[in-house]
Amino acid sequence: MVDFRLQALRPPPSRRPCLTAVLRMAGLRPTRQRVALAELLLGGPHRHVSAEQLHLEAQGARVNVSLATVYNTLHQFQEAGLLREVAVDASRSYFDTDTSDHHHFYLEDEQRVIDIPANSIVLQGLPEAPRGMMVTHVDVIVRVKKTPQI
Ligand SMILES: [Zn+2]
Repeated sequence: MVDFRLQALRPPPSRRPCLTAVLRMAGLRPTRQRVALAELLLGGPHRHVSAEQLHLEAQGARVNVSLATVYNTLHQFQEAGLLREVAVDASRSYFDTDTSDHHHFYLEDEQRVIDIPANSIVLQGLPEAPRGMMVTHVDVIVRVKKTPQI
């Protein structure tokens, strides 16, 4: 007989084994820090996060990582195809957990990015790629700020 009171006390099933497999399949060794950061990043709905935000979240979750490690891990995840980098300028990047083709609004007042669905922008007249090259993707970032109230 199953004691349901005991089941209620159990923690919810961990996604750790699954994320370990995701990291392995992406060609990354599932170190403790990578798995912990993957859990923070990929454990919920799609989102856009900066290295600084993720570092704060890691501190809040008592994951002991330096900001430099967070930067390196984000770039490793990006190179492995788990994340997409959205560079809004030379000094500011966000990492998108949704790697599908889509574009972004950059909300300048709030310093965050939100999605524009891929089919709502029609790209025309793109130049041909230089000889021997091909276009991999096109990133459109539409910068917006609040209209002044009169
Ligand atoms: Zn996005």
